[in-house]
Amino acid sequence: MIVTSLDPVRLESGDLWIADGRIAAQDEGTRIDCDSVLAVPGNVCAHTHLYSALARGMPYALEPPRNFVEILQRVWWRLDRALDEDSVRASALAGGMEALLSGTTTLVDHHASPNAIDGSLDVIADALASLGVRSVLCYETTDRDGPERARAGLAENSRWLERVRREQPPLARGLVGAHASFTLGDETLAACADAAREHSTGLHIHAAEDGADERDALAVHGTRVVERLVRAGALDERTLLAHGVHLDGSEAAAVGAVKATIAHNARSNMNNSIGRARVEELDGRLALGTDGIGSDMFEESHAAYFRLREDDLGAGVDWPLARLAESSRLAARLFDEPLLGTLEPGAPADLVVLDYPAPAPVTAASFAGHWTFALSSRHVRDVMVAGEWVVRDRRLTRVDVAELAAGAHVQAELLWQRLDGVGPHPFEPKGGS
Ligand SMILES: [Zn+2]
Repeated sequence: MIVTSLDPVRLESGDLWIADGRIAAQDEGTRIDCDSVLAVPGNVCAHTHLYSALARGMPYALEPPRNFVEILQRVWWRLDRALDEDSVRASALAGGMEALLSGTTTLVDHHASPNAIDGSLDVIADALASLGVRSVLCYETTDRDGPERARAGLAENSRWLERVRREQPPLARGLVGAHASFTLGDETLAACADAAREHSTGLHIHAAEDGADERDALAVHGTRVVERLVRAGALDERTLLAHGVHLDGSEAAAVGAVKATIAHNARSNMNNSIGRARVEELDGRLALGTDGIGSDMFEESHAAYFRLREDDLGAGVDWPLARLAESSRLAARLFDEPLLGTLEPGAPADLVVLDYPAPAPVTAASFAGHWTFALSSRHVRDVMVAGEWVVRDRRLTRVDVAELAAGAHVQAELLWQRLDGVGPHPFEPKGGS
């Protein structure tokens, strides 16, 4: 059985045909037997941080954080400063490996390594390309580490986007990365908006993730986050906002009016205790990301659905599929491949073969129930990106997983040692944590 589209759900029986990296018409190219399996479009993670891939279990000896800003100061803004080129590469390889093995074929990454900025996006791009992962990369521009690093972050985005324009790498594209309103001065935010315009792409920025972002915008700029972005010329159809938990009604309407995308990261929101995004009140393009908690979109979509259902019994069982389709549409626009995220003839052949012995009928009407209540990454058997098998029989085809993990392990130990010498970040938002 083939799921050719997630939203609306369309199913076809028969086999898939692949030619020139794309889904082909029947009897053209190479056949994929779909008789006893379920073939679905590859998942897209609309917001992640590969640089956190080696952070799992890292030691923590400071006072426990009491709020979101302290989590940044004491955990993530220490980790990012401890990263060097080797640990950036190892993180990307480890994160990319796990993405493919869980059926995620495209990662929209938001990268920070303030002591290894120049060329960091090349390092990530090359690591992901070596595995065969499709990606959209950016560097997290911010003023929190001083003007020199703000300029270097912006320059890294521009350099990467220039490379993308020049080389058109088959599996990689770019956005202009920016951290969040509360760590960006007016000059840097304006420069990010200019860079996005110049490279005909969007800004990828955390927006209203925690109340501190809104309080800072009000205290320093006399306006809320989204209005600030609008004034800076930084909000349009190509903008990717991460989280949006504390957007008010008028901000949600402004985001919807320009058709910007919001990446919802339910597990991260719960983990950081920042509140539940009012996803049922956001219209328009609501995609799903993981914010760095792996890239298993089965798990993320399930968690997001159950967290929503806890408050809203009206959320339909097809809600996770609609969100994942929105993540795919984001990638489709960025790659200028309107059919990406479907398995229609002509679409890039990014697909996942699920070994799922369905105990109940799988139909267009029932598929959402199978997805939400049963399907998981343990069913992922084979993964294809752009017509090439990158996972076969649950193994990466291009690299040895044990070798890759062993190399990452070495880098994780070195990274954790360096982390010991990095203190809490002194940056404080205005308006209170
Ligand atoms: Zn994030």
